[in-house]
Amino acid sequence: MTVDIAVPLGGPALRQERRLVTSIPGPRSQELLDRKAAAVSAGVGHAVPVAAVAAGGGVVVDADGNSLIDLGSGIAVTTVGAAHPRVVEAISAQAAQFTHTCFMISPYEQYVAVAEALNRLTPGDHAKKSALFNSGSEAVENAVKIARTHTGRSAVVAFDHAYHGRTNLTMALTAKSMPYKSGFGPFAPEIYRVPGSYPLHDGLSGPDAAARAIGLIEKQIGAENLAAVIIEPIQGEGGFVVPADGFLNAVVDWCTANDVVFIADEVQSGFARTGAMFASELFGIVPDLVTTAKGIAGGMPLAAVTGRAEMMDAVHRSGLGGTYGGNPVACAAALAAIEAYETDGLATRAQQIGDRIRARFTAAQQDDPRIADVRGRGAMMALEFADPVTGAPDGALTAAIASACIAEGVIVLTCGTYGNVIRFLPPLSIDDALLDEGLGVVAAALAAH
Ligand code: PMP
Repeated sequence: MTVDIAVPLGGPALRQERRLVTSIPGPRSQELLDRKAAAVSAGVGHAVPVAAVAAGGGVVVDADGNSLIDLGSGIAVTTVGAAHPRVVEAISAQAAQFTHTCFMISPYEQYVAVAEALNRLTPGDHAKKSALFNSGSEAVENAVKIARTHTGRSAVVAFDHAYHGRTNLTMALTAKSMPYKSGFGPFAPEIYRVPGSYPLHDGLSGPDAAARAIGLIEKQIGAENLAAVIIEPIQGEGGFVVPADGFLNAVVDWCTANDVVFIADEVQSGFARTGAMFASELFGIVPDLVTTAKGIAGGMPLAAVTGRAEMMDAVHRSGLGGTYGGNPVACAAALAAIEAYETDGLATRAQQIGDRIRARFTAAQQDDPRIADVRGRGAMMALEFADPVTGAPDGALTAAIASACIAEGVIVLTCGTYGNVIRFLPPLSIDDALLDEGLGVVAAALAAH
């Protein structure tokens, strides 16, 4: 598109402010949205009607010069910021060196270094290995392939409210039909769904919720047929559902006792997001396999499966791979982002952000019974909305608040099986003043609806 205003550089150079110089969308954004409608498949939606031209710190700047507070991080991806200087430098240097050889043709050090870092950082001190891919869905697909090869079994259990991706196998694992699955079947076979732990709605203790799930698995599938149980330690798209204490531990113990591979899908919850490097740590569990993506590489497409060496090595030579998996530029970005996570105290920063969000909205909840729940960990926090009288999920209120916030220059995303959850996923590079201003806009939108 033609942009005759000076396009600012992203990253810390951007003024950290909410600034509206037009209504949203402004004319230049509208021009791009019109072109999008004409050129891009109608199947590809967008939540925020702006043409992004720069981003960094805690803001996204659009083609009209509006500066929006970013409480979404492009769905938990730009956790270190959208143009972290270390990541930008690493990308430029690597791109100048070489952009691709294909790791399956001529391997390179950057891929191996990312694997070493993941083997070191993921929970547990057992021997681990990794394999790199391009997207979260692809990581999940490959984790299932590894579990099936290792066990010689085919069934896979996923949970209510799960989200694992949009490819054929991962659609089958994902719970919600619209918009992710509707009309796209038939889906992959041998996927079974059981209820998990959703304390607000099931009122069960963690061990009781686990016993319910395990009972169903034993009766309806049989451990001897089950390759893997896959779960998001804190569910993402399904509504930022935090399981009751003891739930995950009991499921892991059952998997271990029955030689079933326990896969933690940390695609959304990984990389300092929840106040720990991985959400699994918050519950004291050690998964057999961990899938990662999103926050791993500061915005570049990269994903991984990391897990027990003997499981990762169960696959025959050349059984795993793909043309672009572990692209060197993405790996260089990941090494820089991981260095930032480790040296900039970002897990602690995520906890501080979570504390601010929780304090603000638990206070608001006292006066507003439509806020059914304030939950999450670290910078992965959510508000669930329900009718105070009937308890029915209030997706309409949630959508109205989200669009009011966007019109006021604050990017907030929704989620939840019933679309009745506002989720906060700010970049950890956001400053307190901007975060507070953004949360204030959300609170004002709630008060006005
Ligand atoms: N698993 C989880 C937990 C996710 O949140 C997502 C993406 N929202 C995926 C898998 C799929 O990742 P991708 O969109 O990169 O394929």
